[in-house]
Amino acid sequence: MASERQIHVGGVPIGGGAPVAVQTMTKTETANLQATMDQIHRVAEAGADIVRCAVPREQDVEALKTIVRESPIPIIADIHFNHTLALKALDAGAHCVRINPGNIGGPDKVAEVIAKAKEKDTPIRVGVNSGSLPKHLRDLEYSDPVEALVRAATETVELMERLDFTNFKISMKSTSVPNTIHSNRRLAERIPYPLHLGVTEAGTKWSGSLKSAVGLGTLLADGIGDTIRISLSTFHAEEEVKVAWEILKALKLRERGPVLIACPTCGRLQFDMDSVVAEVERRLEAYEDPIEVSILGCAVNGIGEARHADFGITGAKDMGMIYSKGEPLKKVATESLVDELFAEIDRYYAAGKTV
Ligand code: SF4
Repeated sequence: MASERQIHVGGVPIGGGAPVAVQTMTKTETANLQATMDQIHRVAEAGADIVRCAVPREQDVEALKTIVRESPIPIIADIHFNHTLALKALDAGAHCVRINPGNIGGPDKVAEVIAKAKEKDTPIRVGVNSGSLPKHLRDLEYSDPVEALVRAATETVELMERLDFTNFKISMKSTSVPNTIHSNRRLAERIPYPLHLGVTEAGTKWSGSLKSAVGLGTLLADGIGDTIRISLSTFHAEEEVKVAWEILKALKLRERGPVLIACPTCGRLQFDMDSVVAEVERRLEAYEDPIEVSILGCAVNGIGEARHADFGITGAKDMGMIYSKGEPLKKVATESLVDELFAEIDRYYAAGKTV
């Protein structure tokens, strides 16, 4: 159940059946223009549709003017505590501003920000977080943390509607994967506005990716969620973008670049498959098409898998087989498998074919 409503962050549609948008957040000091722009270019290249920058100081909002002008993708200004910075970010041309109505200084300040957003025709992301729920929901938070999150979110939606403002998306973040899943399911039934999904403070690259894949993947598989951000404790924001894309690709919600299928190996393996997989993965980065390549350690599943993939390798002790769309192409020496595979892929494209 994708959201009924659609908003636009810059040129990127969110909700209303649009493709699930990938976003991330820069990890640089926003005022450090060079470092911030470098990171924005890297995340855009990795496939981010939108990027958010923290704006906690005057110098950040100053830098925002240049960033908005020069960024290849829309910019969301992330503001907490200081509604004046939100007003200035809107004046600086931010494509969206993220505020948490619970910490921006009270209803009057929220109303001021919304009035400015209307004047600028700029969308707002409103968010609630399990770590900063309003005081009147504290008791409920202990007895029913999911309902407390949903209640905080619906109260925020009601506030926006009282201000006659519908150009917003909403996020409801929790560090708990089950609470993220249950609260977003419940909220999606109650409101028509686009949902931003994320598991907050998910953790390191390894555990954070898995928590996000389980939490966000479950919701996305139900059709819930219009934009996603993977939060990882890494300085390289592009890693978050890659994980987001892997989740969307795994669910076949969006396509971007090649898909590599590889067996887990077992005692039947008789060649150095680790190196073959690493080398194929590295070389596939140069291709933009959603070409599917399977690498199987032996003939047990190899032939069957190769039938589904655009290209496939089945390895063996000395000789391996290369397949294309289910047809065996040739038998080659194991040490030439990767070179021969890419020669076949390039021949395929040179003949003007596409996947
Ligand atoms: Fe083992 Fe062969 Fe299956 Fe790979 S394809 S896991 S090597 S049986």
